[in-house]
Amino acid sequence: MKNRIIIIVFFAIFSCAPNNNLEILQESYELKLFNTFENESPKYEDVREKILFPIKGVILTNQSNLLPNAERKYRNGIHEGIDIVVPFMTPVFASLDGIIIVANTEYKDVDIESYNNFLKTTGKMKKTPKDIYNHILLGKHIIIDHGFDYLPGYRTTSTYAHLEKINDKKVGDFIKKGELIGYVGNSGTKYGALNNLLGAHLHWEIHFENENNKYYLGQNISKESILKLSNKLFEGEDYEKN
Ligand SMILES: [Zn+2]
Repeated sequence: MKNRIIIIVFFAIFSCAPNNNLEILQESYELKLFNTFENESPKYEDVREKILFPIKGVILTNQSNLLPNAERKYRNGIHEGIDIVVPFMTPVFASLDGIIIVANTEYKDVDIESYNNFLKTTGKMKKTPKDIYNHILLGKHIIIDHGFDYLPGYRTTSTYAHLEKINDKKVGDFIKKGELIGYVGNSGTKYGALNNLLGAHLHWEIHFENENNKYYLGQNISKESILKLSNKLFEGEDYEKN
């Protein structure tokens, strides 16, 4: 009997110890918003409030290809955003309060030949030129300026791309966090250029800009850290399950 108690106590201690260590490790884990490599990188604790996930009822993917830092060979670039794959015309909501600085409501997809020619140019340049990215590949999109208060020392902006429709918004309008801004589509993708309904998704970017650089959320951060960060930073995921 005595032996049995000793064995039980031993197993209880043995099986608890790794969990405690893990919790301590997780608590001391630094959740960086992006990695500057030079200066001190801003952390989750530095932001003013949580960021609303722009689509209701879905959770962040764990597929690397749809997350920041993924290679985009077709345009010779790097993915600076998060892709949220949902059906055509799924409503999109503003992630934070701000002022609209881009709303290209009149955007029309170019034909597939022109589209492929732009992609050929990215191959010659070995990068995605900014004008091709902004005026062709983002498609119909909205950019919101969240000012300097969200992350001290940085100007924060958010981008919502490949929209099918923009919801009665124009440049200069104030917008509230959670306000409807538009609907998911495939504009700016090859499917948009082919004029079909395939490949619908929201491409969502958050940028932080200071006088020297512009960083995207998750830049130079591992996938595991991005997923941990998103658990803390985003609100509104799983909306319909709650
Ligand atoms: Zn994307």
